[in-house]
Amino acid sequence: MSGPEYFEHGELVAVLTTQPLDRTLDYKAPEGGCFLGAFVEVPLGPRKVLGVVWGQGQGNFDPAKIRSVIRVLEAAPMREEMRAFLGRAADYTLTPMPAMLRLATRAPGLGDPPSMRKIYRLGSGAPERLTDARTRVLEVLRDYGGLAFTLKELAEMAGVTSSVIKGLVKQGAVREEDSPRDLPYPVLDPYLPGKELTEDQSAAADALCRSLRGGQYGTTLLKGVTGSGKTEVYLEAVAESLRLGKQALVLLPEIALTAEFLSRVEVRFGARPAEWHSGATMTERRRVWRMVGQGDAQLVVGARSALFLPFRDLGLIIVDEEHDTSYKQEDGVLYNARDMAVLRAAICGAQVVLASATPSLESWANAEAGKYERLDLSARFGAAVLPEMKTIDMRAEQLQPGSWISPTLRQAVRARMDSGEQSLLFINRRGYAPVTLCRACGQQIGCDHCDARMVEHRFLKRLMCHQCGETKPMPDACPSCGVEGKLAPVGPGIERLAEEAAATFPEARIAMLSSDLFGSARALKAKIEEIAEGDADLIIGTQLVAKGHNFPKLTLVGVIDADLGLQGSDLRAAERTFQLMRQVAGRAGRSERPGQALLQTFQPEHPVIRAILSGDEEGFWRAEAAGRQAAGVPPYGRMAGIILSGPEVGPVFDIGNALARNDGPLRQVGAQVFGPAPAPIARIRGRHRVRLLVKAPKGAPLQDAIARWIAPVTLKGDIRLAVDIDPQSFF
Ligand code: ADP
Ligand code: ZN
Repeated sequence: MSGPEYFEHGELVAVLTTQPLDRTLDYKAPEGGCFLGAFVEVPLGPRKVLGVVWGQGQGNFDPAKIRSVIRVLEAAPMREEMRAFLGRAADYTLTPMPAMLRLATRAPGLGDPPSMRKIYRLGSGAPERLTDARTRVLEVLRDYGGLAFTLKELAEMAGVTSSVIKGLVKQGAVREEDSPRDLPYPVLDPYLPGKELTEDQSAAADALCRSLRGGQYGTTLLKGVTGSGKTEVYLEAVAESLRLGKQALVLLPEIALTAEFLSRVEVRFGARPAEWHSGATMTERRRVWRMVGQGDAQLVVGARSALFLPFRDLGLIIVDEEHDTSYKQEDGVLYNARDMAVLRAAICGAQVVLASATPSLESWANAEAGKYERLDLSARFGAAVLPEMKTIDMRAEQLQPGSWISPTLRQAVRARMDSGEQSLLFINRRGYAPVTLCRACGQQIGCDHCDARMVEHRFLKRLMCHQCGETKPMPDACPSCGVEGKLAPVGPGIERLAEEAAATFPEARIAMLSSDLFGSARALKAKIEEIAEGDADLIIGTQLVAKGHNFPKLTLVGVIDADLGLQGSDLRAAERTFQLMRQVAGRAGRSERPGQALLQTFQPEHPVIRAILSGDEEGFWRAEAAGRQAAGVPPYGRMAGIILSGPEVGPVFDIGNALARNDGPLRQVGAQVFGPAPAPIARIRGRHRVRLLVKAPKGAPLQDAIARWIAPVTLKGDIRLAVDIDPQSFF
């Protein structure tokens, strides 16, 4: 970019605001001038809004009417690379710039002056009269050298009331000062010794450190089974980044995992890093945002939106569990944090590490093609070995109706209990039963707002829609036919499985792990720690347990329904089942004792089930890759979803049909459009949803074509159009 870096008072500047406008607005630079990238407050109609100085004014507005920037905020100006990143991300995801800017300013109170608080330190004056209480205050301040305290801290340490301190301030014996509330994060020490690495691990760590010292962009896929020490290895890369004076960002998929990881960071570097996630308080978020911008936070551990923090000098981004679907944001700006991490790193010359035991096919293919480096950790650390995997052929098992634990699995669990080891029963369904059926009329209870079934949650004593979150009490009578006492649960959820387990193993201590059973991340963490210490014989869990927790006494994993993910038309169904089953199985035998994984299935001959058992991962990926190549789908072709939604189905379909007819811009680049068709979930929150799917050859300029294709569409009333580039889920 060329052009001025600084604007004098009165010069025209173009300001990008967070308001939904399709262009920047011109303002006059305020008194004192402003830098390019400055965060500013500008008048818009009667309001004051947040914006960023994006360049020179366009001058296409009546100069007499141009207003002045109200003030420049006290925050480091947005750097050129950040502006470039937002622009490229907007182009890639076809998102308007104001929405990108909102993502990059998601900290409350950015417009406020940095909030201040009073601190107290030793003054030069002498107190008139030395009481015991006054002496104690002065002693505390002398004992701690030049340190300052808040009023509360000082009062507590000296054992006095705050009025004693205020009295000393009046006499000049204690000094009262203003200090910013948002303090820098404690300094991390990258020179503290880490764990002694195995040969494999240190080779991988060395390779990452070398790349970092090269000071240029690069992406590395770090693949290793669960427990092979990927975290230990990438912490070495974090250390190297800190030694080079650069900031590092570690992205994690689950808030629940953060606590365990933060403790590891604290042990490794002697202090806690900055945290960024939806559970953080407003004050914490503002502190992280500011400190990252001024370089006073060296390491951020966070959820996907941490990618949009204003790092001053970012050297390293780790995407842990890079295959995890939660990296794809499915609301608002539809972006994939894994891909955006690579984009951001490419712009600022940083290194990316994608860590996973079961990489996404996209990353695997990029490594095959030589676009990414690849490092493999082959063995589990220490004595731990990968669990033995077997199927239980459900066609040959004798099961009572309404029960799901096969005799074979029952025996295996019992054997573990007898030897004091833990078992895990895995079922990827929350609630009590996925379906509630009326045995009088045969109708299922559905959601009033969505094309989805209501799921019974006995723990909450309610029916819940997993699409929109709507809940209602469990009725006595069928909402369709009104007959009482005929509603029956069909199929298992985690709660129903726990009920069966309690009846089957009455002496067992059973722990349930499902995201909706815990009010807070803290409660969940406490539960996980209890389990790790051995406070349960049997763990019943949903997807939540597949992710990274360490249960040393766990030696058996029973998968209740290994076929579940294989149904459905999602192009990634096989890949997801493969990843999930391997991740879950990886929970067993993480310590000295060997583990076993038993998969209950009705189709033991299914190629995916066989690939899971044989452990021939490269073989599985090669076969998946060949299949997708033949079909021309990602990562060997490009896809985009268009979702139209509105309160009435007719007008929504009309727009879809018009788009399908006028597909010239798509055909020009060799792309094809399918649909419109009702989306798999045809109604959510009362809105009808219609979907078009665009397929294009790999190198096609898809975004550009789609932008030209949808430009003529005018959306009347409450109809909305969303573009999803590289869709991950097809709902
Ligand atoms: P992954 O991230 O691949 O699942 P971790 O890095 O979490 O693996 O390692 C699994 C467990 O083994 C952790 O408790 C970790 O501290 C331990 N571990 C791994 N490598 C070493 C090592 N070289 N020395 C000591 N402990 C290690
Ligand atoms: Zn609903």
